Amino acid sequence: MPNRDRHPLEYIHPRSLKYLSDHLQSLVKGRLWLKILLGMLLGIAVGIVLGPSAGLVEPGVSGILSEWLSVPGYIFLGLLQMIVIPLVFASIIRGIAASEGMDQLRKVGLRVGGYFLLTTAIAIGVGIGVALLIQPGRFISSELVQSTMDTATPTANQGIVSTPTLGEVPGLIGALLPSNPLGAIVSGQMLQVVLFAIILGIAIVSTSPRQSKPILDLAGSMQEVCMTIVKWAMLLAPVAVFGLLAKFTARVGIEALMGMLVYVGTVLLGLVIILCLYLIIVLFTSGMSPWRFLAGVREVMLLAFSTSSSAAVMPLSIKTAEEKLGVRPSISQFVIPLGATINMNGTALYQSVATVFLAQVFGMELGLGALLLIIVTVVGSSIGTPATPGVGIVILALVLNSVGIPTSGIALIIGVDRIVDMSRTAINVTGDLAACKVMDRWVGSKKSAEKELAEETERELRHIRTGEDVILDVD
Ligand code: ASP
Repeated sequence: MPNRDRHPLEYIHPRSLKYLSDHLQSLVKGRLWLKILLGMLLGIAVGIVLGPSAGLVEPGVSGILSEWLSVPGYIFLGLLQMIVIPLVFASIIRGIAASEGMDQLRKVGLRVGGYFLLTTAIAIGVGIGVALLIQPGRFISSELVQSTMDTATPTANQGIVSTPTLGEVPGLIGALLPSNPLGAIVSGQMLQVVLFAIILGIAIVSTSPRQSKPILDLAGSMQEVCMTIVKWAMLLAPVAVFGLLAKFTARVGIEALMGMLVYVGTVLLGLVIILCLYLIIVLFTSGMSPWRFLAGVREVMLLAFSTSSSAAVMPLSIKTAEEKLGVRPSISQFVIPLGATINMNGTALYQSVATVFLAQVFGMELGLGALLLIIVTVVGSSIGTPATPGVGIVILALVLNSVGIPTSGIALIIGVDRIVDMSRTAINVTGDLAACKVMDRWVGSKKSAEKELAEETERELRHIRTGEDVILDVD
């Protein structure tokens, strides 16, 4: 019988998402990232042959050929985008249920929220700083801008979004809670979906364990099914990257890609600075040396680089946090799914560099007011960016709109977005792992990491014996 003094959270133990990391690990062992890099190089080479500079293939034929070459890419992106909402939704709910108790949940929730906001703001500051210093926009000729924009297809939302006034902000805060959750899911409103999942998760674990078990079981099945789809998508990854890059190079020519090298370099430099900041934060909060941290997170970074999806690598992130970084399961299972969706420092940095870069390309001056506006908008939009490939660039349109930069500029950066997306995703997931380490230190617990891990292993053995997914400790 349940003990009346204990919260239902203390009786329910959903199986950890980390047990679904097996197929991801085989991808790391099979050096997926190397195959992807080869795919990229080959894609650019084929694109050059098909493109206007080589003059070997008629433009009409080249257009059709490169469009067909991108088919695996469209399927790859589509599959990863299709699973992100159910996967994140289920993982947040089960992550909440994996907490030790209400007290821990409250503490981690508040602290991690503040930590995410602060690190995102720092990432944006770094992005604006490097972009103002290097001025990548000055390396782009106006002919290149013209020719790229003439050939590229618009991908982003081109509607004008006006900046809210101070009086409108309270209403917007109220609107964060979806009055129609299915509507939020259908229109991909990530922040609303996350808030809905958090509220639902807390409500689920506040009811009697026997009643919450079926929903948690369902969420577990959803995770399993989504990860199977991720596995299928990954088979396509190298060919997908090959086709997408071949298509872009064939369309705009190699000169356009070369002209963008300084911009890509600026983003990469910013990402490296953020990585160094993480290493410092981890060193000071937990005493873990940068080398040990990097050696621990290496596999997750490579896989995030290969998939461009923070959500798809969640099982491996949780496993890494617990087994290599020594984080308690009750922390990692909550922080990773939440961080994968709302803590995107790599994306925030990229969005701020891209905004300053495009302002420079269009010869626009950014005053202090505009820079502050960029910080506020990018904090919001990086939180709202789904953890899936290539969406950071779509959300970027909102940021550009808010500061009055033509969204058509996105056409210029979309060609190099594959490599930028892969790199920023690697930093996004590293940020989540660093956050786990910090929270593990900041939020005390009745149990040690070893004890929690031992209990989890015991439950896994019970799962293997009985097939039970969510274990109830009530009888
Ligand atoms: N691909 C990124 C991620 O999953 C999101 C983005 O496009 O910036 O973390």
